[in-house]
Amino acid sequence: MNVFVLLHSDNGALPRIALETLSAARQLDGNITVGILGTGAQAAADSIADAAARFLVVDNPALAQPRYCTDAAAAAALISAADAEIILAPATARFNRALPGAAARTNAQIDTKIVGVVAEGGVVQAQRWYYRQRIFTTIRRTGKPWILLMEGGVYPAIEAAPGGATTETVACEFADTRTTVTGIQKPAADAQTIRPEAKLLFVAGAGWTKKQKDGAPHVDVAGTLIQDFLRKSGASLGSSKSIVDLQSEGQGTLGFMTHMNQVGQTGSTPRHPKGLATCCHGEEPHAVGWRFINERRAINLDANCGWAQGKADVLYVADAFEVMEKLNALIG
Ligand SMILES: Cc1cc2nc3c(=O)[nH]c(=O)nc-3n(C[C@H](O)[C@H](O)[C@H](O)COP(=O)(O)OP(=O)(O)OC[C@H]3O[C@@H](n4cnc5c(N)ncnc54)[C@H](O)[C@@H]3O)c2cc1C
Repeated sequence: MNVFVLLHSDNGALPRIALETLSAARQLDGNITVGILGTGAQAAADSIADAAARFLVVDNPALAQPRYCTDAAAAAALISAADAEIILAPATARFNRALPGAAARTNAQIDTKIVGVVAEGGVVQAQRWYYRQRIFTTIRRTGKPWILLMEGGVYPAIEAAPGGATTETVACEFADTRTTVTGIQKPAADAQTIRPEAKLLFVAGAGWTKKQKDGAPHVDVAGTLIQDFLRKSGASLGSSKSIVDLQSEGQGTLGFMTHMNQVGQTGSTPRHPKGLATCCHGEEPHAVGWRFINERRAINLDANCGWAQGKADVLYVADAFEVMEKLNALIG
């Protein structure tokens, strides 16, 4: 079986997920060819010289910036040249955007969010979750070539030995360069509160916005405490549905949270080693949103909070305002 691993390089550097995808490809026990598009493709091939028997590259200044039309054209050229049945590619933002188009151009099948590949009797099967990670499936397709966009963090990165890779340059026409990338606008690093790589998921519930023991809400203090903690700990921010719903109802709430932060049945089910739920009572965040959190703790004023008690390994019956203030001082 011919397995083609399609990667992109940025000035000769490969992202870690590229090395993980190569590791997945090795599971298939086939003949591995590596294709690299982007600037510094030769240097990128050299950095993983022992990872494949054959290297195909498209290196062109037009690929210096991620751009759908040029990335899709280069990927399609490499896929056609490789003539493989199975194509593994890392699920980077760049490839998630460009490879569906490359699949259409090469008459290939494509599946996303793949977390596992196995070959049984020479037949490749891919694994992925459906319905917000409730149903785990093993799928296969008869149509070939079959492109699998591999999720990161599943396979270990290969430890490749660098060397002098012999590369074959694949011709590619970049006829369509109408789009010009003029720059990237993104929030400051500490403004991004959803951090899939974080060791801790910090879940904020609606209690942060409720009247406190002095009879008044203290939303501003809550916001400062939470953001301070996120900055210092590098934790990822999850929210209950109630606290982000308050926003659309025009009530005073924490402006740095959106429904993108929401965990639970109608939110996400992120994977982090640890979780800390604060001022949160809901069933959905505790029972569903935390399904893949290994070690779970909660802070709640209510000792009888059934969900915190039932689903957390440790429940601190305490005022979260006081606990977080102390915690911030300790880790400061
Ligand atoms: C079909 C359906 C789908 C849903 N999907 C989701 C979902 O995906 N995700 C989700 O989150 N919800 C979901 N919900 C809503 C969910 O059932 C709960 O209503 C919601 O999660 C409750 O949010 P909360 O715990 O933040 O707020 P509350 O229920 O208001 O709880 C606030 C908690 O804060 C505590 N508290 C207050 N002050 C302090 C303090 N100073 N220190 C410590 N603790 C304090 C209180 O004791 C209380 O336990 C769904 C509901 C339905 C019907």
